[in-house]
Amino acid sequence: MVNIPELFGSNVFNDATMRERLPKATYKALKRTIDLGEPLDISVANVVANAMKDWAVEKGCTHYTHWFQPMTGITAEKHDSFINPEGNDSVIMDFGGKELVKGEPDASSFPSGGIRATFEARGYTAWDPTSPAFIRDTTLYIPTAFCSYTGEALDKKTPLLRSMEVLSKAACRTLKLFGKDVRKVNSTVGPEQEYFLVDKKYYDQRKDLIFTGRTLFGAAAPKGQELDDHYFGSLKTRVKEFMADLDVELWKLGITSKTRHNEVAPAQHEVAPIFATTNVATDHNQLVMETLKKTAEKHGMVCLLHEKPFAGVNGSGKHNNWSLSTSDGENLISPGKDPANNTQFLFILAAIMKGVDEFADLLRISVASAGNDHRLGANEAPPAIVSMFLGDELEAVVESIVNKTDYEAPGKVPMHLGVDVLPEFKKDTTDRNRTSPFAFTGNRFEFRMLGSAVNIACPNIMINTIMAEELNQFCDEVEAAEDKEVAIKRLIRRTFKEHKRVVFNGDGYSSEWPVEAEKRGLSNYRTLPEAVAHFDDQKNIDLFVKNNVHDEIEIKARKEILLEEYAKEINIEALTMLEMAKQDILPAVSRFVKELTDTVLAKKQLSDAIPTSVETDLIMTLSNNLVSFADKIEKLEEAVVKGSAIESAQEKANFYHDTVFATMNELRAVSDAMETVTSSEYWPYPTYDQLLFGV
Ligand code: ADP
Ligand code: MG
Repeated sequence: MVNIPELFGSNVFNDATMRERLPKATYKALKRTIDLGEPLDISVANVVANAMKDWAVEKGCTHYTHWFQPMTGITAEKHDSFINPEGNDSVIMDFGGKELVKGEPDASSFPSGGIRATFEARGYTAWDPTSPAFIRDTTLYIPTAFCSYTGEALDKKTPLLRSMEVLSKAACRTLKLFGKDVRKVNSTVGPEQEYFLVDKKYYDQRKDLIFTGRTLFGAAAPKGQELDDHYFGSLKTRVKEFMADLDVELWKLGITSKTRHNEVAPAQHEVAPIFATTNVATDHNQLVMETLKKTAEKHGMVCLLHEKPFAGVNGSGKHNNWSLSTSDGENLISPGKDPANNTQFLFILAAIMKGVDEFADLLRISVASAGNDHRLGANEAPPAIVSMFLGDELEAVVESIVNKTDYEAPGKVPMHLGVDVLPEFKKDTTDRNRTSPFAFTGNRFEFRMLGSAVNIACPNIMINTIMAEELNQFCDEVEAAEDKEVAIKRLIRRTFKEHKRVVFNGDGYSSEWPVEAEKRGLSNYRTLPEAVAHFDDQKNIDLFVKNNVHDEIEIKARKEILLEEYAKEINIEALTMLEMAKQDILPAVSRFVKELTDTVLAKKQLSDAIPTSVETDLIMTLSNNLVSFADKIEKLEEAVVKGSAIESAQEKANFYHDTVFATMNELRAVSDAMETVTSSEYWPYPTYDQLLFGV
C-alpha cells in the first residue's frame, strides 16, 4: 500500500521542500516572487539553484532541463548534465543561478510563424519561479518561458503569464471599487481530460493511428455508445490497473489527480485534478497528457489524445473550469447566497458577459485545431457558436435587473426521494447544462469547447486578457463618476441589456439554435480556417496590444502558425490515406475478389447447376467499388499536389479544408463500404470492433 500523503509531491521542489532547504531570507524573497509577482534577484537565484541541485542529485538526478511549451502544442526539453570540470581529470556537480534563470536553446527549428529566420537562431528560456521544478527519471525539470532574441514570445507560457498579470492588476483595481485592498488575484483552472485507450498490438498495425492519431478508415462496429452503458460504467481490470498506476505517477509530480471514470464512448475515459493557479494547471495538464501516454505503454496500451480518433462515436474534449481567486482566498465568481444583492459579483458577471459577447471569435480561435473541427457541432460537443449559460437563478436575476422588476429568490428546495432511509439533502438552485460552451456551474465558468489535445494556455490567455480588458473599461467608467454606487448599478444594467444576446440557456445541440444564434448576430465559425481568419481583426489586435499580452507581430505569427499547422496536418492525413489505400486496401480487396472469382470458376467447372449468384454479385459490387476507389485516389493525389503549391497560408488552409479534406471523406466512404463486405481474413487492418472493445 502506498502512503499517499508521503508520496504526494515527492518529486517536486515544492513549498515544503523549499522551506526545509532554503535559508529563511532566500525562502521569503522567493515566496514574494511566487505569491506577489515581485522581481527576483540573481543572488536569490544562486542560492535556490544550489539547493535545487543538491535536492535533485540526492534523488538520483544527473541532468537538468529548461522545460518549455513551444508553438507545437507539446513540450520541449534539452538535457544538460550538472557536471563541471574541476582540475584536469575530475568533475563536480554544479548548478548556478545564471543557469537556473536563463537558457539558450537553438530556436530555429521551432514554429515561429516567420518571426525569426533560421539564421537568427538565438532563443531564450526564462525560469518561471511560480511553477515548481520537478523530477522525472533522472532529470530536474525547470518550467520556463521561451522567447526570441528580439523578445517576442515563441511559446504558449509567456503570453499566459502576461495575461495573468494584467488580469490580476485589473481585478485588484476592481476590488478597490468595493473597498477591498487585495495584492493579487489569480485565475484558477481545473481541466478535465478525456482520452481513449487502445491495445498496442492493434495500434501498431494501423498507420493512420501511428501517423495521425486518428483512424482515417474504418467501418462502424455493430455496437457503439447507443446503450449508454460505458459512461461511469465499472472499470475493466486492465484499465483500473492503468489508472491506479497513473494516479501514483501524477501524485509524485504533485498533481492532484482526483476524479477518474469511464466516458461515453467505448474505450474512452476521463481524469480530472483539483484546480490550481492557471500556469501551474497548464504545466500539470501537459504533464497529465505525457504521463497518460507513458503509463499506457507500460500496460501494453496506447493512449489516444486526438479529438476524434473514431468516426461515429464521441470524440474527446477537455473542460476548462475557470475562476478568479484573491490572495486572501475569496472566489470572485461565487455569487453567494443572495446573488441579486451581490453587486461585486454582478459587476464581474457583467464583465464576463460583455467579454464573451465581444470576443467570442477569440474564444473560438483559442480551441481551433484540425482535430477539434470534427467535434464542434457534432453530437458530443457544443457547436462552434460561443454562447453563455447562466442557469435559471442567475438568468432571473439578470432579467429582473434589465426589466427593473423585483427578483424573488427561489431558495434551496429539499430533495424528496420517497424513501425514508435515504438521507435528505437540498437541491442546487440551478440544473446543469451540458450543451453550453461557456457555462456557469455555481462558483466557476466551465469552457467546454476545448479539444482533448489542446494546450490549455491558449484558451486561458484569451479568457484572462478579455477579462482584464473589460474590468479595466468598467473601472475607467466608475472611477470617473461622481456617485460611484449609482455608476456601478447603471453600468451593470446597461451591460446586461446590451450583451444578454450571448446568453443561451436552451439546448445547444438542437438544430434550432444555430438559426436563432444567427438571428442574434452571433458568429458561427465551423472550421479552423474560417475562425482563424479573424485572429488579427483590428479589435483583437487592439485588445492584445493594449493589454501587453501580444504585440502585432506575435498575433500575425500565431495566426500563420495555426493556418500552416492545419494544412500540414491534413496533408499528412491525406498522404497516409493514399499510402494505406494504394498499398494495403486496394490490393487486399482485389485479392478477395480473385478468391471469389476462383470459387465461381471452380463451381462452374464442377457443374453448371451450382448457383454462383452470391459470389458474382459480390464480385460485381466490389469491382465497381474498386473503380470508384481508384478514382478517388487519383482525385486526392491531384488535390494534394495542388494544395502543396499554394503560397498564402490562409488560401492554403481553405483549400485543404474545402478540397483535400472533402476528397478524403469521399475516399473513406468507399473504403468503409468495401470493408463491410470483405472477408475479415483479407481486410488488412484491425477493425473498429477490435480497437474499441479490444482492451
Ligand atoms: P464535472 O464533470 O461535473 O464537470 P468534475 O468534478 O469532473 O466536474 O470537475 C470539475 C473541475 O472543476 C475540477 O477540476 C475542480 O477542481 C474544478 N473547480 C472547482 N472549483 C473551481 C474553481 N473555483 N476554479 C477553477 N476550477 C474549479
Ligand atoms: Mg465538466
